[in-house]
Amino acid sequence: MHQYNYWNYYYRATNYIVQPGDSLYLIAKRFNTTISDIKQANNLTSDLIYVGQSLVIPSPAVPTLPDGIYGIGSRGPAVVKIQQALSALGFNVAQDGIYGPKTSDIIMNLQKKFPEALTADGIYGPKTKMYLEKLLASKYKIVQNPESKTVLVNKMNSLSPYYEPQNLTVPNVSFAYPEYRPQKLMQPEAARALEALFAKAKQDNIALNAVSGYRSYDYQSQLFSRNIKANPNANQFSARPGESEHQTGLAMDVSSPSVNNNLTQAFGDTKEGKWLVENAPDFGFILRFPKGKENITGYQYEPWHIRYVGKDVARQIANQNITLEEYLGQST
Ligand SMILES: [Zn+2]
Repeated sequence: MHQYNYWNYYYRATNYIVQPGDSLYLIAKRFNTTISDIKQANNLTSDLIYVGQSLVIPSPAVPTLPDGIYGIGSRGPAVVKIQQALSALGFNVAQDGIYGPKTSDIIMNLQKKFPEALTADGIYGPKTKMYLEKLLASKYKIVQNPESKTVLVNKMNSLSPYYEPQNLTVPNVSFAYPEYRPQKLMQPEAARALEALFAKAKQDNIALNAVSGYRSYDYQSQLFSRNIKANPNANQFSARPGESEHQTGLAMDVSSPSVNNNLTQAFGDTKEGKWLVENAPDFGFILRFPKGKENITGYQYEPWHIRYVGKDVARQIANQNITLEEYLGQST
């Protein structure tokens, strides 16, 4: 069993291999640092870098956070600092020094990520400060391209609590349960692709059932809260809210009657599980958490979790036996 510490996962990510098309400018932008900081950390005397070069990426500059307790109605320079920190993480918030409903709501949603330590009350205090500082010192970012088919969502790239995909729809495929649940939903393009994948499975006499697709930030929050209370290592298999691909509406958990429609690693050894890995890329899906890539994805092997990225990208990822992180050149 691989052990991941949430924060170690972030902090370990300080080495970067230069990819084709990279420049110091692009790398600095991607890691929220500066060209001069990268040059200094690597003793570079010019802006010249080469593909395959290993670079140390220094931690981004961390805004200082105030001590004290702040909540709705608080005003002043300390509140500006809190708002600057939220904005550095990628939240869209006014830096007006007024602790209003928006600031409070963002704080509350951040607190929901750490149910094992924080109360989601929207009030900024010493504990919340500590967690905010950790996030700021890491490469943690709110995803700015949630609508992209190849959007990267993981422990470092979180969807906004306010992101909800448009036009979610229930794919016309066989599900593990008959009744409607919001978890049946997917984005339309992904839903059509899943239908095509399941039709091919049927043709090949492979019995698949869809289990879980879309999950809202709040639903994931409830799920994670329950999981972390039952198991302190839950973040190895259960995402914190915002950090689950299920919020994109591009992912679906798939199983088969041969394993009682359970989401279990044993599914990977069934003929259905093997068929899925083999055929999913032709329909635009990748197996998002492959075996042996736990250090890159941050999650254990999940033979049941497929993610829509489009046929082109899915085939490239499958052919090269890489992860979405590696494909996007953000491997750690
Ligand atoms: Zn999943």
